[in-house]
Amino acid sequence: MLLVFGPRSTTYDFGPAHPLTPRRFGPAIDLLRAVGAEPGLGPEPASDEELRWSHSRRYIETVKRFSEMPHGWAEAGIGEGGDDPPFAGMHEAAAAVAGGSIRAMEAILRSDVEHAFHPGGGLHHAMRDRASGFCIYDDVALAIARARLDSLRVLYLDFDVHHGDGVQAIHWNDPGVLTFSIHESGRYLFPGTGGVGELGVGVAAGTAVNLPLEPVTGERAWLPAVEAIVPELAAAFGPDIVVSQHGADSHAWDPLAHLNMTTTAMGGAARLVDAVAHRHAGGRWLATGGGGYDAYRVVPRSWSLVWLAGAHREVPASTPEAWRERWASEGARYGQAPPPAAFTDPPNAGEPVDGAQDAADSRSAVVAALVRRVTVPRLVREARDRGWWDPLERVTAAAPTGEPAPGSGVPTILEAVDAATWSRLALAPRVVAPADAAEAHKIVAAGLLSASLHVSAAVVGDAVVGLAVSLASAASLQRELLAVGVAPGWRQHGLAGQVLAAHVDALAEGQEIVAEVTVAERDPIDPIDGHVRRDVARRLFERAGFVATPTDPAVRAADPDTVTAILRR
Ligand SMILES: [Zn+2]
Repeated sequence: MLLVFGPRSTTYDFGPAHPLTPRRFGPAIDLLRAVGAEPGLGPEPASDEELRWSHSRRYIETVKRFSEMPHGWAEAGIGEGGDDPPFAGMHEAAAAVAGGSIRAMEAILRSDVEHAFHPGGGLHHAMRDRASGFCIYDDVALAIARARLDSLRVLYLDFDVHHGDGVQAIHWNDPGVLTFSIHESGRYLFPGTGGVGELGVGVAAGTAVNLPLEPVTGERAWLPAVEAIVPELAAAFGPDIVVSQHGADSHAWDPLAHLNMTTTAMGGAARLVDAVAHRHAGGRWLATGGGGYDAYRVVPRSWSLVWLAGAHREVPASTPEAWRERWASEGARYGQAPPPAAFTDPPNAGEPVDGAQDAADSRSAVVAALVRRVTVPRLVREARDRGWWDPLERVTAAAPTGEPAPGSGVPTILEAVDAATWSRLALAPRVVAPADAAEAHKIVAAGLLSASLHVSAAVVGDAVVGLAVSLASAASLQRELLAVGVAPGWRQHGLAGQVLAAHVDALAEGQEIVAEVTVAERDPIDPIDGHVRRDVARRLFERAGFVATPTDPAVRAADPDTVTAILRR
Protein backbone atom coordinates (compact mmCIF):
# COMPACT_ATOMS: atom_id res chain seq x y z
CA MET A 1 0.00 0.00 0.00
CA LEU A 2 1.56 3.26 -1.19
CA LEU A 3 1.89 5.76 1.67
CA VAL A 4 1.52 9.41 0.65
CA PHE A 5 3.44 11.83 2.87
CA GLY A 6 6.17 14.41 2.39
CA PRO A 7 7.56 17.78 3.49
CA ARG A 8 4.52 19.62 2.12
CA SER A 9 2.15 17.56 4.28
CA THR A 10 2.93 19.56 7.44
CA THR A 11 2.46 22.96 5.71
CA TYR A 12 -1.35 22.59 5.86
CA ASP A 13 -1.46 24.45 9.19
CA PHE A 14 -4.11 26.86 10.47
CA GLY A 15 -1.92 27.82 13.44
CA PRO A 16 -1.07 26.60 16.95
CA ALA A 17 -4.57 27.07 18.42
CA HIS A 18 -6.36 25.17 15.64
CA PRO A 19 -7.60 21.60 16.36
CA LEU A 20 -6.44 20.21 12.97
CA THR A 21 -2.76 20.30 13.89
CA PRO A 22 0.11 19.02 11.72
CA ARG A 23 1.68 17.92 15.01
CA ARG A 24 -0.30 14.72 14.51
CA PHE A 25 2.02 13.70 11.65
CA GLY A 26 4.92 13.40 14.14
CA PRO A 27 3.68 10.47 16.23
CA ALA A 28 1.55 9.05 13.39
CA ILE A 29 4.20 8.80 10.65
CA ASP A 30 6.62 7.53 13.30
CA LEU A 31 4.20 4.70 14.18
CA LEU A 32 3.46 4.00 10.50
CA ARG A 33 7.20 3.58 9.91
CA ALA A 34 7.39 1.27 12.92
CA VAL A 35 4.77 -1.06 11.37
CA GLY A 36 6.64 -1.11 8.06
CA ALA A 37 5.14 1.77 6.05
CA GLU A 38 7.60 4.04 4.23
CA PRO A 39 6.33 7.20 2.48
CA GLY A 40 6.59 6.62 -1.28
CA LEU A 41 4.94 9.74 -2.69
CA GLY A 42 5.38 13.32 -1.46
CA PRO A 43 2.42 15.61 -2.20
CA GLU A 44 3.05 18.53 -4.57
CA PRO A 45 0.43 21.18 -5.46
CA ALA A 46 -2.26 20.22 -7.96
CA SER A 47 -2.53 22.56 -10.94
CA ASP A 48 -5.32 25.14 -11.19
CA GLU A 49 -6.74 23.14 -14.06
CA GLU A 50 -7.00 20.10 -11.80
CA LEU A 51 -8.53 22.07 -8.93
CA ARG A 52 -11.18 23.29 -11.36
CA TRP A 53 -12.52 19.73 -11.74
CA SER A 54 -14.30 20.34 -8.43
CA HIS A 55 -13.89 24.05 -7.62
CA SER A 56 -14.92 27.33 -9.22
CA ARG A 57 -12.30 29.63 -10.77
CA ARG A 58 -13.48 32.46 -8.54
CA TYR A 59 -13.02 30.41 -5.36
CA ILE A 60 -9.49 29.36 -6.35
CA GLU A 61 -8.65 33.05 -6.94
CA THR A 62 -10.05 33.91 -3.49
CA VAL A 63 -7.90 31.23 -1.82
CA LYS A 64 -4.82 32.53 -3.68
CA ARG A 65 -5.53 36.10 -2.54
CA PHE A 66 -5.79 35.02 1.13
CA SER A 67 -2.68 32.92 0.60
CA GLU A 68 -0.69 36.01 -0.39
CA MET A 69 -2.42 38.43 2.04
CA PRO A 70 -3.77 36.37 4.97
CA HIS A 71 -6.11 39.01 6.41
CA GLY A 72 -9.13 41.09 5.47
CA TRP A 73 -12.88 40.45 5.40
CA ALA A 74 -14.04 36.88 5.59
CA GLU A 75 -15.00 35.43 2.21
CA ALA A 76 -15.92 32.02 0.80
CA GLY A 77 -15.72 30.41 4.23
CA ILE A 78 -12.21 31.73 4.92
CA GLY A 79 -11.83 34.24 7.76
CA GLU A 80 -10.17 35.07 11.07
CA GLY A 81 -11.71 33.37 14.07
CA GLY A 82 -13.62 30.82 11.95
CA ASP A 83 -13.00 27.16 11.16
CA ASP A 84 -10.81 28.09 8.19
CA PRO A 85 -8.63 31.07 9.10
CA PRO A 86 -6.35 32.40 6.34
CA PHE A 87 -2.62 31.68 6.51
CA ALA A 88 0.35 32.56 4.30
CA GLY A 89 0.83 29.90 1.63
CA MET A 90 -2.58 28.32 2.21
CA HIS A 91 -3.22 27.87 -1.51
CA GLU A 92 0.00 25.91 -2.06
CA ALA A 93 -0.52 23.88 1.12
CA ALA A 94 -4.14 22.99 0.28
CA ALA A 95 -3.32 22.38 -3.40
CA ALA A 96 -0.59 19.98 -2.24
CA VAL A 97 -3.11 17.95 -0.23
CA ALA A 98 -5.23 17.78 -3.39
CA GLY A 99 -2.16 16.89 -5.47
CA GLY A 100 -1.29 14.06 -3.08
CA SER A 101 -4.70 12.43 -3.50
CA ILE A 102 -4.83 13.01 -7.28
CA ARG A 103 -1.32 11.56 -7.81
CA ALA A 104 -2.18 8.59 -5.58
CA MET A 105 -5.31 8.00 -7.66
CA GLU A 106 -3.21 8.13 -10.85
CA ALA A 107 -0.78 5.58 -9.44
CA ILE A 108 -3.74 3.25 -8.89
CA LEU A 109 -5.20 3.97 -12.35
CA ARG A 110 -1.82 3.14 -13.94
CA SER A 111 -1.79 -0.09 -11.87
CA ASP A 112 1.53 0.96 -10.31
CA VAL A 113 -0.06 0.08 -6.99
CA GLU A 114 -3.25 -1.66 -5.95
CA HIS A 115 -3.90 0.50 -2.87
CA ALA A 116 -2.72 3.91 -1.70
CA PHE A 117 -3.17 5.73 1.62
CA HIS A 118 -2.94 9.52 1.95
CA PRO A 119 -3.36 10.25 5.67
CA GLY A 120 -3.10 14.02 5.13
CA GLY A 121 -6.04 13.85 2.72
CA GLY A 122 -9.72 13.46 3.42
CA LEU A 123 -10.71 17.16 3.39
CA HIS A 124 -14.31 16.17 2.71
CA HIS A 125 -16.15 19.36 3.75
CA ALA A 126 -14.71 21.69 1.07
CA MET A 127 -17.42 22.78 -1.37
CA ARG A 128 -17.19 23.83 -5.00
CA ASP A 129 -17.02 27.53 -4.09
CA ARG A 130 -16.20 27.74 -0.40
CA ALA A 131 -14.03 26.42 2.39
CA SER A 132 -15.70 24.60 5.27
CA GLY A 133 -14.80 22.62 8.39
CA PHE A 134 -10.97 22.87 8.17
CA CYS A 135 -11.11 21.99 4.47
CA ILE A 136 -9.94 24.32 1.67
CA TYR A 137 -9.75 22.10 -1.43
CA ASP A 138 -11.66 18.84 -1.53
CA ASP A 139 -8.87 16.37 -2.28
CA VAL A 140 -11.22 13.37 -2.08
CA ALA A 141 -13.74 14.88 -4.50
CA LEU A 142 -10.83 15.75 -6.82
CA ALA A 143 -9.38 12.23 -6.71
CA ILE A 144 -12.86 10.91 -7.55
CA ALA A 145 -13.12 13.46 -10.37
CA ARG A 146 -9.81 12.14 -11.74
CA ALA A 147 -11.22 8.61 -11.84
CA ARG A 148 -14.37 9.95 -13.53
CA LEU A 149 -12.20 11.41 -16.32
CA ASP A 150 -11.43 7.78 -17.16
CA SER A 151 -15.17 6.98 -16.91
CA LEU A 152 -14.63 4.77 -13.87
CA ARG A 153 -17.46 4.19 -11.41
CA VAL A 154 -16.49 5.23 -7.89
CA LEU A 155 -17.72 3.98 -4.51
CA TYR A 156 -16.90 6.56 -1.81
CA LEU A 157 -16.98 5.45 1.84
CA ASP A 158 -16.74 8.10 4.56
CA PHE A 159 -16.12 6.96 8.16
CA ASP A 160 -15.37 10.39 9.65
CA VAL A 161 -17.59 11.38 12.58
CA HIS A 162 -18.76 14.35 10.49
CA HIS A 163 -20.97 14.00 7.42
CA GLY A 164 -18.96 13.92 4.16
CA ASP A 165 -21.02 16.81 2.82
CA GLY A 166 -18.54 18.31 0.33
CA VAL A 167 -17.91 15.07 -1.54
CA GLN A 168 -21.64 14.33 -1.56
CA ALA A 169 -22.51 17.83 -2.85
CA ILE A 170 -19.81 17.88 -5.54
CA HIS A 171 -20.90 14.50 -6.95
CA TRP A 172 -24.61 14.91 -6.09
CA ASN A 173 -25.81 14.72 -9.72
CA ASP A 174 -23.45 12.01 -10.89
CA PRO A 175 -24.94 8.47 -11.03
CA GLY A 176 -21.39 7.11 -11.49
CA VAL A 177 -20.34 8.08 -7.94
CA LEU A 178 -22.03 6.44 -4.95
CA THR A 179 -21.25 8.25 -1.68
CA PHE A 180 -21.80 6.53 1.67
CA SER A 181 -21.28 8.42 4.92
CA ILE A 182 -21.69 7.12 8.48
CA HIS A 183 -21.50 9.92 11.03
CA GLU A 184 -22.88 11.48 14.18
CA SER A 185 -26.31 12.93 13.37
CA GLY A 186 -26.33 16.45 11.99
CA ARG A 187 -28.88 17.33 14.65
CA TYR A 188 -26.01 17.33 17.14
CA LEU A 189 -22.87 17.95 15.12
CA PHE A 190 -21.31 19.98 12.30
CA PRO A 191 -22.12 20.28 9.40
CA GLY A 192 -25.77 19.58 10.25
CA THR A 193 -26.50 17.55 7.12
CA GLY A 194 -26.37 13.84 6.26
CA GLY A 195 -29.94 12.77 7.06
CA VAL A 196 -31.31 9.47 5.72
CA GLY A 197 -33.48 11.42 3.23
CA GLU A 198 -30.44 12.81 1.36
CA LEU A 199 -30.41 10.23 -1.44
CA GLY A 200 -29.32 12.12 -4.57
CA VAL A 201 -31.55 13.55 -7.30
CA GLY A 202 -32.57 12.94 -10.92
CA VAL A 203 -30.61 10.15 -12.57
CA ALA A 204 -28.40 10.08 -9.44
CA ALA A 205 -31.31 9.35 -7.09
CA GLY A 206 -30.11 6.57 -4.81
CA THR A 207 -26.39 7.33 -5.15
CA ALA A 208 -26.09 9.25 -1.87
CA VAL A 209 -26.41 7.07 1.24
CA ASN A 210 -26.30 8.54 4.73
CA LEU A 211 -26.29 6.81 8.09
CA PRO A 212 -26.66 9.36 10.91
CA LEU A 213 -26.05 7.99 14.40
CA GLU A 214 -27.16 9.17 17.83
CA PRO A 215 -24.54 10.74 20.13
CA VAL A 216 -22.65 8.18 22.30
CA THR A 217 -23.32 5.37 19.81
CA GLY A 218 -20.50 2.82 20.15
CA GLU A 219 -18.79 0.12 18.12
CA ARG A 220 -21.55 -2.44 18.87
CA ALA A 221 -23.89 -0.50 16.54
CA TRP A 222 -21.35 1.22 14.27
CA LEU A 223 -19.38 -1.75 12.93
CA PRO A 224 -22.39 -4.05 12.32
CA ALA A 225 -24.07 -1.20 10.41
CA VAL A 226 -21.00 -0.80 8.20
CA GLU A 227 -20.76 -4.56 7.69
CA ALA A 228 -24.44 -4.84 6.84
CA ILE A 229 -24.68 -2.02 4.32
CA VAL A 230 -21.31 -1.40 2.64
CA PRO A 231 -20.71 -4.81 0.94
CA GLU A 232 -24.31 -4.87 -0.33
CA LEU A 233 -24.09 -1.32 -1.70
CA ALA A 234 -20.86 -2.30 -3.44
CA ALA A 235 -22.44 -5.41 -4.98
CA ALA A 236 -25.49 -3.49 -6.13
CA PHE A 237 -23.53 -0.53 -7.53
CA GLY A 238 -20.61 -2.34 -9.16
CA PRO A 239 -17.75 0.16 -8.68
CA ASP A 240 -14.45 0.20 -10.60
CA ILE A 241 -12.60 1.79 -7.68
CA VAL A 242 -13.16 2.45 -3.97
CA VAL A 243 -12.18 5.74 -2.31
CA SER A 244 -12.44 5.92 1.48
CA GLN A 245 -12.08 8.55 4.19
CA HIS A 246 -10.93 7.29 7.60
CA GLY A 247 -11.47 10.22 9.95
CA ALA A 248 -10.47 9.11 13.45
CA ASP A 249 -12.74 11.60 15.23
CA SER A 250 -15.50 9.08 15.91
CA HIS A 251 -13.30 7.73 18.72
CA ALA A 252 -14.54 7.83 22.32
CA TRP A 253 -11.55 10.02 23.27
CA ASP A 254 -11.96 12.57 20.49
CA PRO A 255 -12.56 16.06 21.91
CA LEU A 256 -14.79 17.41 19.09
CA ALA A 257 -17.57 14.83 18.73
CA HIS A 258 -19.68 12.43 20.77
CA LEU A 259 -19.49 8.90 19.38
CA ASN A 260 -17.90 6.15 21.47
CA MET A 261 -15.88 4.36 18.85
CA THR A 262 -12.67 2.36 19.17
CA THR A 263 -9.59 1.88 17.02
CA THR A 264 -10.63 -1.80 16.94
CA ALA A 265 -13.79 -0.95 15.00
CA MET A 266 -11.92 1.56 12.79
CA GLY A 267 -9.41 -1.14 11.87
CA GLY A 268 -12.28 -3.55 11.23
CA ALA A 269 -13.88 -1.06 8.85
CA ALA A 270 -10.57 -0.60 7.00
CA ARG A 271 -10.26 -4.39 6.55
CA LEU A 272 -13.83 -4.50 5.29
CA VAL A 273 -13.04 -1.78 2.72
CA ASP A 274 -10.00 -3.77 1.58
CA ALA A 275 -12.19 -6.88 1.15
CA VAL A 276 -14.86 -4.89 -0.71
CA ALA A 277 -12.24 -3.37 -3.03
CA HIS A 278 -10.82 -6.81 -3.87
CA ARG A 279 -14.22 -8.42 -4.30
CA HIS A 280 -16.05 -5.66 -6.19
CA ALA A 281 -13.52 -3.14 -7.59
CA GLY A 282 -10.60 -5.15 -8.99
CA GLY A 283 -8.57 -4.34 -5.85
CA ARG A 284 -8.40 -0.60 -6.65
CA TRP A 285 -8.55 1.37 -3.38
CA LEU A 286 -7.52 4.89 -2.40
CA ALA A 287 -7.74 5.54 1.35
CA THR A 288 -7.38 8.94 3.00
CA GLY A 289 -7.26 10.21 6.56
CA GLY A 290 -9.61 12.91 7.72
CA GLY A 291 -10.57 14.35 11.09
CA GLY A 292 -9.02 13.15 14.33
CA TYR A 293 -8.09 15.53 17.11
CA ASP A 294 -6.60 13.20 19.69
CA ALA A 295 -3.18 13.45 18.06
CA TYR A 296 -1.15 11.10 20.29
CA ARG A 297 -3.46 8.36 21.50
CA VAL A 298 -5.90 7.86 18.60
CA VAL A 299 -4.72 9.23 15.22
CA PRO A 300 -1.40 7.29 14.99
CA ARG A 301 -3.05 3.96 15.83
CA SER A 302 -6.04 4.59 13.56
CA TRP A 303 -3.85 5.46 10.56
CA SER A 304 -1.58 2.46 11.22
CA LEU A 305 -4.59 0.14 11.23
CA VAL A 306 -5.70 1.53 7.84
CA TRP A 307 -2.24 0.95 6.40
CA LEU A 308 -1.96 -2.55 7.89
CA ALA A 309 -5.35 -3.42 6.34
CA GLY A 310 -4.17 -2.24 2.92
CA ALA A 311 -0.81 -3.97 3.30
CA HIS A 312 -2.63 -7.22 4.19
CA ARG A 313 -0.60 -7.52 7.39
CA GLU A 314 -1.57 -8.70 10.82
CA VAL A 315 -1.94 -6.11 13.57
CA PRO A 316 1.13 -6.32 15.87
CA ALA A 317 0.46 -7.34 19.46
CA SER A 318 1.59 -3.99 20.85
CA THR A 319 2.78 -0.54 19.86
CA PRO A 320 6.60 -0.23 20.13
CA GLU A 321 7.79 0.83 23.57
CA ALA A 322 10.33 3.19 21.99
CA TRP A 323 7.52 4.92 20.09
CA ARG A 324 5.50 5.38 23.26
CA GLU A 325 8.50 6.80 25.08
CA ARG A 326 9.35 9.20 22.23
CA TRP A 327 5.89 10.80 22.22
CA ALA A 328 4.74 10.55 25.84
CA SER A 329 6.31 13.83 26.94
CA GLU A 330 5.14 15.85 23.91
CA GLY A 331 1.65 14.42 24.44
CA ALA A 332 1.79 15.33 28.12
CA ARG A 333 2.66 18.91 27.18
CA TYR A 334 -0.66 19.03 25.31
CA GLY A 335 -2.50 17.51 28.23
CA GLN A 336 -2.77 13.98 26.83
CA ALA A 337 -2.42 10.65 28.58
CA PRO A 338 0.49 8.45 27.37
CA PRO A 339 0.15 6.68 23.98
CA PRO A 340 -1.54 3.26 24.44
CA ALA A 341 0.39 0.01 24.43
CA ALA A 342 -1.98 -1.76 21.99
CA PHE A 343 -3.16 -0.83 18.49
CA THR A 344 -6.69 -1.92 19.25
CA ASP A 345 -8.76 -0.80 22.22
CA PRO A 346 -10.49 -2.86 24.88
CA PRO A 347 -14.25 -3.20 24.27
CA ASN A 348 -16.02 0.17 24.27
CA ALA A 349 -12.60 1.86 24.78
CA GLY A 350 -12.52 0.47 28.32
CA GLU A 351 -15.67 2.26 29.48
CA PRO A 352 -18.75 0.44 30.76
CA VAL A 353 -21.79 0.59 28.47
CA ASP A 354 -24.34 2.65 30.37
CA GLY A 355 -28.08 3.00 29.79
CA ALA A 356 -27.70 6.08 27.61
CA GLN A 357 -25.31 4.27 25.29
CA ASP A 358 -27.55 1.20 25.24
CA ALA A 359 -30.43 3.39 24.08
CA ALA A 360 -28.26 5.19 21.50
CA ASP A 361 -26.93 1.89 20.13
CA SER A 362 -30.49 0.58 19.76
CA ARG A 363 -31.75 3.71 18.02
CA SER A 364 -28.74 3.74 15.70
CA ALA A 365 -29.36 0.08 14.79
CA VAL A 366 -32.95 0.95 13.84
CA VAL A 367 -31.72 3.79 11.60
CA ALA A 368 -29.16 1.46 10.00
CA ALA A 369 -31.89 -1.09 9.22
CA LEU A 370 -34.02 1.64 7.65
CA VAL A 371 -31.14 2.95 5.52
CA ARG A 372 -30.43 -0.57 4.31
CA ARG A 373 -34.12 -1.13 3.47
CA VAL A 374 -34.26 2.08 1.41
CA THR A 375 -30.86 2.00 -0.33
CA VAL A 376 -30.05 -1.70 -0.93
CA PRO A 377 -32.04 -3.62 -3.59
CA ARG A 378 -34.51 -6.07 -2.09
CA LEU A 379 -33.12 -9.13 -3.87
CA VAL A 380 -29.61 -8.38 -2.56
CA ARG A 381 -30.82 -8.00 1.03
CA GLU A 382 -32.93 -11.15 1.03
CA ALA A 383 -30.20 -13.18 -0.65
CA ARG A 384 -27.77 -12.29 2.10
CA ASP A 385 -30.23 -12.55 4.98
CA ARG A 386 -31.33 -16.01 3.82
CA GLY A 387 -27.80 -17.26 3.20
CA TRP A 388 -28.18 -17.67 -0.57
CA TRP A 389 -25.14 -15.51 -1.22
CA ASP A 390 -22.41 -13.52 0.51
CA PRO A 391 -21.26 -10.19 -0.94
CA LEU A 392 -17.76 -10.70 0.50
CA GLU A 393 -17.19 -14.34 -0.39
CA ARG A 394 -14.61 -14.88 -3.10
CA VAL A 395 -16.10 -15.75 -6.50
CA THR A 396 -15.72 -19.42 -7.36
CA ALA A 397 -17.33 -20.92 -10.46
CA ALA A 398 -18.65 -18.48 -13.04
CA ALA A 399 -22.39 -18.43 -13.64
CA PRO A 400 -23.76 -18.28 -17.20
CA THR A 401 -24.40 -14.79 -18.48
CA GLY A 402 -24.93 -13.40 -21.94
CA GLU A 403 -27.28 -11.34 -24.00
CA PRO A 404 -28.87 -12.11 -27.37
CA ALA A 405 -28.63 -9.40 -30.02
CA PRO A 406 -31.64 -7.05 -29.80
CA GLY A 407 -34.29 -8.10 -32.31
CA SER A 408 -32.89 -11.62 -32.51
CA GLY A 409 -36.19 -13.19 -31.50
CA VAL A 410 -39.50 -12.77 -29.73
CA PRO A 411 -39.14 -13.50 -26.00
CA THR A 412 -40.90 -16.57 -24.66
CA ILE A 413 -42.56 -16.01 -21.28
CA LEU A 414 -42.00 -18.76 -18.72
CA GLU A 415 -44.54 -18.56 -15.89
CA ALA A 416 -42.50 -20.58 -13.41
CA VAL A 417 -38.83 -21.48 -13.82
CA ASP A 418 -37.46 -24.37 -11.72
CA ALA A 419 -33.88 -24.84 -10.55
CA ALA A 420 -33.00 -27.32 -13.31
CA THR A 421 -34.25 -24.99 -16.04
CA TRP A 422 -32.55 -21.99 -14.46
CA SER A 423 -29.19 -23.74 -14.40
CA ARG A 424 -29.37 -24.14 -18.20
CA LEU A 425 -30.30 -20.48 -18.83
CA ALA A 426 -27.88 -17.56 -19.10
CA LEU A 427 -28.83 -14.24 -17.50
CA ALA A 428 -28.41 -11.04 -19.53
CA PRO A 429 -26.62 -8.13 -17.80
CA ARG A 430 -28.59 -5.53 -15.84
CA VAL A 431 -31.91 -7.41 -15.61
CA VAL A 432 -31.98 -7.43 -11.79
CA ALA A 433 -29.58 -6.54 -8.93
CA PRO A 434 -26.72 -6.94 -8.14
CA ALA A 435 -24.67 -5.14 -10.81
CA ASP A 436 -22.83 -8.29 -11.90
CA ALA A 437 -25.21 -10.63 -13.75
CA ALA A 438 -23.19 -13.68 -12.66
CA GLU A 439 -23.91 -12.77 -9.03
CA ALA A 440 -27.60 -12.31 -9.82
CA HIS A 441 -27.67 -15.69 -11.56
CA LYS A 442 -26.18 -17.37 -8.48
CA ILE A 443 -28.62 -15.65 -6.14
CA VAL A 444 -31.63 -16.87 -8.14
CA ALA A 445 -30.15 -20.38 -8.41
CA ALA A 446 -29.60 -20.57 -4.64
CA GLY A 447 -33.07 -19.15 -3.92
CA LEU A 448 -34.69 -21.73 -6.22
CA LEU A 449 -32.92 -24.55 -4.36
CA SER A 450 -34.40 -23.25 -1.10
CA ALA A 451 -37.77 -23.92 -2.82
CA SER A 452 -39.57 -20.81 -1.62
CA LEU A 453 -38.59 -18.64 -4.58
CA HIS A 454 -40.98 -18.15 -7.48
CA VAL A 455 -39.30 -17.07 -10.72
CA SER A 456 -40.91 -16.00 -14.01
CA ALA A 457 -38.76 -15.13 -17.00
CA ALA A 458 -38.73 -13.77 -20.53
CA VAL A 459 -36.29 -15.89 -22.53
CA VAL A 460 -34.71 -15.43 -25.94
CA GLY A 461 -32.78 -18.51 -27.03
CA ASP A 462 -31.00 -19.60 -23.86
CA ALA A 463 -30.82 -16.12 -22.34
CA VAL A 464 -33.08 -14.53 -19.74
CA VAL A 465 -33.82 -10.92 -20.74
CA GLY A 466 -36.69 -10.29 -18.30
CA LEU A 467 -37.32 -11.55 -14.79
CA ALA A 468 -39.79 -11.41 -11.90
CA VAL A 469 -38.85 -12.95 -8.55
CA SER A 470 -40.96 -13.34 -5.43
CA LEU A 471 -40.60 -15.09 -2.11
CA ALA A 472 -43.22 -16.71 0.13
CA SER A 473 -43.43 -15.16 3.58
CA ALA A 474 -43.11 -17.59 6.43
CA ALA A 475 -46.47 -18.81 7.73
CA SER A 476 -48.72 -16.70 5.54
CA LEU A 477 -50.27 -16.68 2.10
CA GLN A 478 -48.45 -13.47 1.28
CA ARG A 479 -45.57 -13.27 -1.17
CA GLU A 480 -43.02 -10.47 -1.40
CA LEU A 481 -41.90 -9.30 -4.82
CA LEU A 482 -38.08 -9.21 -4.66
CA ALA A 483 -37.26 -7.97 -8.14
CA VAL A 484 -38.68 -7.29 -11.56
CA GLY A 485 -36.54 -6.12 -14.46
CA VAL A 486 -35.66 -6.25 -18.13
CA ALA A 487 -32.29 -6.07 -19.93
CA PRO A 488 -31.46 -2.68 -21.53
CA GLY A 489 -31.93 -3.82 -25.14
CA TRP A 490 -35.41 -5.19 -24.39
CA ARG A 491 -36.93 -2.35 -22.40
CA GLN A 492 -39.83 -0.10 -23.41
CA HIS A 493 -41.76 -2.85 -25.17
CA GLY A 494 -44.01 -3.90 -22.30
CA LEU A 495 -41.88 -6.92 -21.48
CA ALA A 496 -41.73 -6.19 -17.74
CA GLY A 497 -45.54 -6.08 -17.70
CA GLN A 498 -45.76 -9.44 -19.51
CA VAL A 499 -43.35 -11.11 -17.09
CA LEU A 500 -45.13 -9.66 -14.07
CA ALA A 501 -48.55 -10.70 -15.43
CA ALA A 502 -47.31 -14.28 -15.92
CA HIS A 503 -45.80 -14.20 -12.44
CA VAL A 504 -49.10 -13.16 -10.89
CA ASP A 505 -51.08 -15.70 -12.95
CA ALA A 506 -49.14 -18.50 -11.32
CA LEU A 507 -50.32 -17.52 -7.84
CA ALA A 508 -52.96 -19.65 -6.16
CA GLU A 509 -56.45 -18.34 -5.42
CA GLY A 510 -56.43 -16.14 -2.30
CA GLN A 511 -52.71 -15.46 -2.40
CA GLU A 512 -51.40 -11.93 -2.01
CA ILE A 513 -48.26 -10.39 -3.43
CA VAL A 514 -46.73 -7.18 -2.07
CA ALA A 515 -44.14 -4.94 -3.72
CA GLU A 516 -42.12 -2.15 -2.13
CA VAL A 517 -40.00 -0.30 -4.69
CA THR A 518 -37.56 2.21 -3.22
CA VAL A 519 -34.82 4.35 -4.76
CA ALA A 520 -32.56 1.27 -4.55
CA GLU A 521 -34.36 -0.46 -7.41
CA ARG A 522 -32.64 0.98 -10.48
CA ASP A 523 -30.25 0.14 -13.27
CA PRO A 524 -26.98 1.18 -11.55
CA ILE A 525 -25.11 1.61 -14.83
CA ASP A 526 -27.50 3.88 -16.71
CA PRO A 527 -30.34 4.91 -14.39
CA ILE A 528 -33.27 6.99 -15.58
CA ASP A 529 -34.58 9.95 -13.55
CA GLY A 530 -35.85 8.95 -10.10
CA HIS A 531 -39.33 10.41 -10.61
CA VAL A 532 -39.67 8.74 -14.00
CA ARG A 533 -38.63 5.47 -12.32
CA ARG A 534 -41.40 5.92 -9.75
CA ASP A 535 -44.01 6.59 -12.44
CA VAL A 536 -42.88 3.60 -14.51
CA ALA A 537 -43.17 1.36 -11.41
CA ARG A 538 -46.66 2.68 -10.60
CA ARG A 539 -47.91 2.05 -14.15
CA LEU A 540 -46.32 -1.39 -14.24
CA PHE A 541 -48.09 -2.46 -11.04
CA GLU A 542 -51.41 -0.86 -12.01
CA ARG A 543 -51.50 -2.68 -15.33
CA ALA A 544 -50.73 -5.98 -13.63
CA GLY A 545 -53.72 -5.47 -11.32
CA PHE A 546 -51.94 -4.24 -8.19
CA VAL A 547 -53.44 -1.48 -6.06
CA ALA A 548 -51.46 1.13 -4.13
CA THR A 549 -51.10 0.44 -0.42
CA PRO A 550 -49.60 2.72 2.24
CA THR A 551 -45.82 2.75 2.50
CA ASP A 552 -44.27 2.23 5.94
CA PRO A 553 -44.09 5.81 7.34
CA ALA A 554 -40.37 5.50 8.16
CA VAL A 555 -39.60 4.39 4.59
CA ARG A 556 -41.83 7.11 3.15
CA ALA A 557 -40.08 9.76 5.26
CA ALA A 558 -36.69 8.65 3.94
CA ASP A 559 -37.74 8.09 0.31
CA PRO A 560 -41.08 9.77 -0.55
CA ASP A 561 -40.96 8.24 -4.04
CA THR A 562 -41.26 4.69 -2.73
CA VAL A 563 -44.02 2.77 -4.53
CA THR A 564 -45.88 0.19 -2.44
CA ALA A 565 -48.50 -2.00 -4.09
CA ILE A 566 -50.45 -5.16 -3.37
CA LEU A 567 -52.38 -7.69 -5.44
CA ARG A 568 -54.73 -10.39 -4.20
CA ARG A 569 -55.69 -13.32 -6.41
ZN1 LIG B 1 -6.01 -5.20 -0.33
